[in-house]
Amino acid sequence: MRIVLISTPIGYLGSGKGGGVELTLNSLVSGLLVLGHSVEVIAPENSKLCESNKKAKLHFVGGKEQISMQHQNYDSPVIIPDNSLLAGMIEKGLDIAKQSDVLLNMSYDWLPIWMTLNVEIPIAHIISMGSESSVICNLISKVYAKHPHNFAFHSKIQANDYPDIKNPTIIGNGFELDNYIFQDSVNGPLAWVGRVAPEKGLEDAVYVANELGEKLNVWGLIEDENYASKIEDSYPQGTIDWMGYLATEKLQKELGKCRVLLNTPKWNEAYGNVIVEALACGVPVIAYKRGGPSEIIQHGETGYLANPDDKESLISYVEMIDKIKRNNCREWVEKNASANIFANKVVNWLNKVIKDYK
Ligand code: UDP
Repeated sequence: MRIVLISTPIGYLGSGKGGGVELTLNSLVSGLLVLGHSVEVIAPENSKLCESNKKAKLHFVGGKEQISMQHQNYDSPVIIPDNSLLAGMIEKGLDIAKQSDVLLNMSYDWLPIWMTLNVEIPIAHIISMGSESSVICNLISKVYAKHPHNFAFHSKIQANDYPDIKNPTIIGNGFELDNYIFQDSVNGPLAWVGRVAPEKGLEDAVYVANELGEKLNVWGLIEDENYASKIEDSYPQGTIDWMGYLATEKLQKELGKCRVLLNTPKWNEAYGNVIVEALACGVPVIAYKRGGPSEIIQHGETGYLANPDDKESLISYVEMIDKIKRNNCREWVEKNASANIFANKVVNWLNKVIKDYK
């Protein structure tokens, strides 16, 4: 298959601004290349693909980045700036896709979804978030009515956010497991990984660390400085150890030394890449039973699921985390979320999309 992939217009690949989409794109490209497909990627200038993806052709586009949907009101109109990066990426993608089988869109935005109704080239969409915008949600309903195969979601619970998607395609997610080394560090510190932004609920994990008299190691891009300093100011100095935003190789090395990852989202997390990355290193995860994490974590086997926003229950689970066998965590990822498993699911789905256009 010849696949043209459109990356996120929020930031260049490697900036961290694109969140989980950046890693998902890289592992998908790796998986597709291994299966023998041809892949071209349209991405913002300065983007980098990982070393193993050199066989994929990268096309750069300049222009003004989009504002992330989750940081606007649900009913906000869609804004397309002058010299739009998104519009440029789609223009280029559509042009290259004339010689390809499918255009695969990974941006959560109006324009590529609307285009699906207006061009003959099959455009397939990996929807990376729960419903964060009424305009997008309604447009997905409209396009789904005509092209029911053209959308895929990471988890069932994410797809449930879209009321008109009656029979969603669920593809999960995948990870290059060679990039994650198992570590048996049962006495390590507490970890939290993610974009530091309100929807990620860092404050609840800091509360847990403080109650237990421990430090919390935090990795990730500080997207919202005010939010970060508010949390820092609410707890004794040194409760948070800011570890910065690290590339996967370094992140997994540090994360593997931790005894548990706390995952405390306040939104309907579509999937939760960081959960699987922790599990791949042998680190059990305690998360709120909200969104994707509730479909990933096997309660009592690879971690624990606490009732949403119940911080006291997070504390009880941290106290019994030694009951989780770290080997089980790694095993679950190998059986369920490798790049190969993911790429196969995506290929099966894309075949259905393409068939509809023949
Ligand atoms: N991440 C990273 N380095 C860091 C912290 C996070 O590369 O220091 C990446 C992580 O690998 C994951 C992404 O940031 O792929 C966060 O994705 P997730 O699905 O957890 O949440 P999102 O940001 O998409 O809401």
